[in-house]
Amino acid sequence: MDIKFVKSNKLKEKPDPSTLGFGKIFTDHMFVMDYNKEEGWHDARIVPFENLSIHPASTVLHYGSEIFEGLKAYRRTDGTVQLFRPIENIRRMNNSAERLCLPQLDEEDALEALVKFVEIEQDWTPSQKGTSLYLRPFMFGNDESLGVHAVNNATFIIIASPVGSYYKEGINPVKIMIEDEDVRAVRGGTGYAKCGGNYAASNRAGERAEQKGYSQVLWLDGVERKYVEEVGAMNVMFKINGEIITPKLTGSILPGITRKSCIEVLKSEGYNVSERLLSVDELEQAMDDGTLEEAWGCGTAAVVSPIGELCYKDKKSIINSGKIGDVTQHLYDTLTGIQWGEVEDKFDWTYPISKP
Ligand SMILES: *Cc1c(COP(=O)(O)O)cnc(C)c1O
Repeated sequence: MDIKFVKSNKLKEKPDPSTLGFGKIFTDHMFVMDYNKEEGWHDARIVPFENLSIHPASTVLHYGSEIFEGLKAYRRTDGTVQLFRPIENIRRMNNSAERLCLPQLDEEDALEALVKFVEIEQDWTPSQKGTSLYLRPFMFGNDESLGVHAVNNATFIIIASPVGSYYKEGINPVKIMIEDEDVRAVRGGTGYAKCGGNYAASNRAGERAEQKGYSQVLWLDGVERKYVEEVGAMNVMFKINGEIITPKLTGSILPGITRKSCIEVLKSEGYNVSERLLSVDELEQAMDDGTLEEAWGCGTAAVVSPIGELCYKDKKSIINSGKIGDVTQHLYDTLTGIQWGEVEDKFDWTYPISKP
């Protein structure tokens, strides 16, 4: 693919790595390409980071045709930069695009775009422990018309943001509220697609949970509010009586790459892992009789996030005395070890970025 590069003539100062939050600072450039029905994807370019100009009737502003991805570039201890399973993100984006009637990306072109962009911006990858360069590819429908239909015009963009360590003061288990009113997604809906609309619909429950002192909600299925689905922006796993259980992908759950990686690591080490339905009754029973040994969320941002307390219908249960469990810690060490190049990557998950 031909990618034009317009270098910014005013490179920004790199931020002090100790002040990095999440997604507030952006790099010097962005990747952009456009789509229309006649030409397909065209005008691939890496240009100075700047505001977009879109028509006030643009589809995305009215009908929410938007999908996104999230992955990171990591600075290895040997100084080089690498990605983690980037092709998985591209494939998932195409699955999301299919669901929202947005155009498909050519896998190889999208990977090339991502890699070229990271090559150009790699100096923005911080090296302090736990930090990374967060990459946010996204695509939106961009027809200049209020008619409701599958889009004819779309835009694909990749932006990048250096982010700080998720765990500044050690890995502290989080408190999660099981949401029994709002639902995030239903089978047949967009739950398995990484789209902005899912987030818009989940903010209310998230706000309510925060007001009660919980960091995120655990969603139940949208039909019966009976089966456990996932947590905010993370998938969820439990260890009950030695069995590691994660909700199976029924269509309303986002197929996380961290989830998949956790399953693959655990299975390769002989753990008993089940992807199955887990009812909130079974979970409650396990909390009551003490067989719930560990619970954790998993996603790109935190890698794994131990759950120290669950609250269901105002009943609170403390898990593993509110401390991180052995399996949770092991997954954290293994995945972050591979990502930052400190543990041998026997799964071939990492993707090196060369010097430009
Ligand atoms: C992105 C996301 C996840 C985690 O996916 P990863 O690929 O592991 O980062 C889980 N749930 C939702 C709703 C998400 O948007």
